[in-house]
Amino acid sequence: MLAQDHVAPASSRARSRPIRGRPGARLEDRVLETLDIAIIPLRADNYAYLLRCRATGQGAVIDPGAGAPVLAHARALGWPLHQILLTHHHADHTDGVEEIHDTTECAVLGAALDRARLPPLTHGLADGDRVHVGAVEGVALATPGHTHGHLAFHFPAAGVVFTGDCLFTMGCGRVFEGTAAQMWASLARLRALDPDTLVYCGHDYAEGNVRFALALEPASPALNAHAADLKARRTRGQPSVPSRLADERALNPFFARR
Ligand SMILES: [Zn+2]
Repeated sequence: MLAQDHVAPASSRARSRPIRGRPGARLEDRVLETLDIAIIPLRADNYAYLLRCRATGQGAVIDPGAGAPVLAHARALGWPLHQILLTHHHADHTDGVEEIHDTTECAVLGAALDRARLPPLTHGLADGDRVHVGAVEGVALATPGHTHGHLAFHFPAAGVVFTGDCLFTMGCGRVFEGTAAQMWASLARLRALDPDTLVYCGHDYAEGNVRFALALEPASPALNAHAADLKARRTRGQPSVPSRLADERALNPFFARR
C-alpha cells in the first residue's frame, strides 16, 4: 500500500516501540523479518536504500541520487519499486527521481514544505505523516537544519531510521539552511528513538567523523574499539551503515556532548 493522499495528522508523533520478532533474535535478524534493505552506494559517498516489505513484496527507494544504478540494483534483486521517499531536495539525493518515476510510475514522497525545490511530488509529507512500504509503517520526522524541509523516515516496527543528511554515522550534517539550534533539536529527536534502532544515513562520512571524534577523545577505550570496528568493516569492503543508535548516543560527538 502506498502512502495515502491525505496522511495522518502531524499530532501523532513517532514513538519508539519494541521491535517485533522472535524473542532473543539478533537485531539484524529481527529487522529482516519485517523489511529487506539493500544498500546502494552512489556517486562519491552517497547511499540510497532499497526497501522491500517481506509480507507483501512491495518496495521503495530512499534518496535515489542516480536513476540507472538504482533501477539496475532493484531489477537484479527482483524488487519492485512502488515509491520513492526523499529526505531532502539536494541533487545528490534526488537526481534519479525522474528516471525512476518515468520507468516505474512509482509514487514520489517528500516534504510538502520543500515541494517547490523537490522533483514533482505525488504526495507531500509533513511532520508525523505516515508512510507505508507494503505493510510496514513508517513516520516522517521533520528534522530541519541541513535544509528547511529535511525529513527522516523512522520505521519503528522494523527498528530502522533513515536519517538523510541530519545524523551521520559518528557525525551530523552541515547546517546549510537552518540554525544550529534547529539541527540540535533534530538530532535530539533522533537521539530519543529506541537505542536498538539501526541508523541508515545519507553519506559515508564515517572515516573522517571517527577521526574527528578521536581527536576530541583519543584515550576513550570505547571510541577506539568502535573506530577499530569501523576500520575492519572498511577493510572487508563493507559499508559503514547501518550503525546502532546506542553507539551513536554513546560515541557520536554531536550526541555525546550535551
Ligand atoms: Zn544534503
